[in-house]
Amino acid sequence: MVKQGVVPDDLTKPFWDAANAGRLDIQNCSACNRLYNPPVAACTQCKSADNLEWKQMSGKGKIYNYGVVYDCPVRLLQQDQPFNLAVITLDEDPGIQMYSHLPGTPVDEVPVGAAVEVIFEETANGQKVPEWRVVG
Ligand SMILES: [Zn+2]
Repeated sequence: MVKQGVVPDDLTKPFWDAANAGRLDIQNCSACNRLYNPPVAACTQCKSADNLEWKQMSGKGKIYNYGVVYDCPVRLLQQDQPFNLAVITLDEDPGIQMYSHLPGTPVDEVPVGAAVEVIFEETANGQKVPEWRVVG
C-alpha cells in the first residue's frame, strides 16, 4: 500500500530513527515504568522529563479491534480502498495502541484477538513505518 511520507519532529525522531533501523522503540519513564505512545515532553505521572528513555519492544502484539475504510480523505490511500484499519495492542502494555493496515490480511477478514508481529514498510520519502502482520 502506498503511504504518505512521515516527517519526524524533535519528540518523535527517536521513534522514526528506530523504525529505519528495524526496531520498535517506545518512550518509557524509567522512574514510573510507564510507556508512552505518542511520546510526551514530560511523564504525566512524575511530571519529570529526566527519566524518559527509549525502550525497544519485542514487536509482538494482538489485534484489539478493527474497521474497514471505504472513504478515506487521504488521496494517496484512496486507490487501495477499501482497506483494513486495525488497532494493535503491544504485548508489553495493552494500553499502548498502534494502527495497522494489516498487509496480507483480506479486507474485512481480520481475526480479532490474533497475535501479530511488527514489520517495517518504506514510505514515499524513504522513512520506514511500523506495520503489523498476523503470525502463523
Ligand atoms: Zn515518570
